[in-house]
Amino acid sequence: MKLHEYQARDILQKYGLPVTGGGVATTAAEARQLAEQVGKVVIKAQVQVGGRGKAGGVKLADTPEQAEEVAGQILGMDIKGLTVEKVLVAEAIEYQKEIYLSAILDRGTKRIVMIASAEGGVEIEEVAKTNPDAIKKLAADPALGLQEFQARELAFSIGLTDSKQARQFANIAMGIYKIFVETDASLVEINPLVIKNDGTLQALDSKILLDDSALFRHKDFESLRDTAGEPEAELKARESDLTFIKLDGNIGCMVNGAGLAMATMDVVKMFGGEPANFLDIGGGANAQKVAAALNIILSDPNVKAVLINIFGGITRGDEVAKGIVAALEQVSRQVPMVVRLVGTNAEEGARILADAKLIPASSLGEAAQKVVEVARGA
Ligand code: GDP
Ligand code: MN
Repeated sequence: MKLHEYQARDILQKYGLPVTGGGVATTAAEARQLAEQVGKVVIKAQVQVGGRGKAGGVKLADTPEQAEEVAGQILGMDIKGLTVEKVLVAEAIEYQKEIYLSAILDRGTKRIVMIASAEGGVEIEEVAKTNPDAIKKLAADPALGLQEFQARELAFSIGLTDSKQARQFANIAMGIYKIFVETDASLVEINPLVIKNDGTLQALDSKILLDDSALFRHKDFESLRDTAGEPEAELKARESDLTFIKLDGNIGCMVNGAGLAMATMDVVKMFGGEPANFLDIGGGANAQKVAAALNIILSDPNVKAVLINIFGGITRGDEVAKGIVAALEQVSRQVPMVVRLVGTNAEEGARILADAKLIPASSLGEAAQKVVEVARGA
């Protein structure tokens, strides 16, 4: 789950990190009022995409009148397909330098890794391409967490040699690390973290991604969700309590159980096919859930064929079959579907499906082979 900049800023502030003052406005008049309290401001579109600055979504305003005018321009603007409904009106900061700092989870080393660069202000992927040596990484100790001496080392590595500055940077890095752990984030990023004219550091823009699988531990975050930037299919999947990940292939997969779903994708690939998604309908899914799953798969225009692989345990074959029949009645698009249904109530399932135009398969290998064939022909 992605947070808006203003929400991330609130969290940073709660952890005592130096963020800029100001507030959120939904109208130009509100922006003007905020500017009257704050002084010179920067008006920033609150949409969940990067590069708002380049897209014209970040603008400075010296006076309340200007703030009103600029906010009026930015509100309602379309940035990468998202309409700006809120702006952050933040105190404008003068600075000498932009730095990058973030905490991420490095799956390779299974560590939380701090990333810093003296080349802030631009997206880190850009720096990785043009000047990879400018990116410094440091893994936190999994048992002890990020140590202060490590955080200071990171400061030195990006050229912050002034001891006061290095200390402040280290404190901010430790704060980011703490936020990362305590909110179950997958990314906490400050970009830019600026060095102001007086030499102190301040976060001008921040970004937090939360791990969806850990959200049950943070009920208070649920209200922060903005679904505007989320792919429609993932939204629907969450509403129906399905685990769904879109991929680039053309074979839709509907499977019960994460392990079986991965095995199914492997076998599809073994026969030369490319899965269009990972989808786990979970244990004990009823007809309604199955119908929702099939609809999500078919809403992807890339999908040329569907493989339904159900191993009935708690999940009952007849329920799955009913769901398929129900979904077929609603869907706007028909593609060839191969079904492998074994286990609990598989015979009843097969009877229910007999009239539907589906391609039966008795083993996973056979099913994968058939679906790859029909996807090619489609
Ligand atoms: P992003 O483009 O979506 O990452 O939005 P940012 O909030 O990072 O803003 C982009 C750029 O606008 C920054 O890199 C700065 O150059 C500039 N900017 C943002 N806030 C301020 C500010 O308070 N003062 C000044 N002078 N520039 C700012
Ligand atoms: Mn930024």
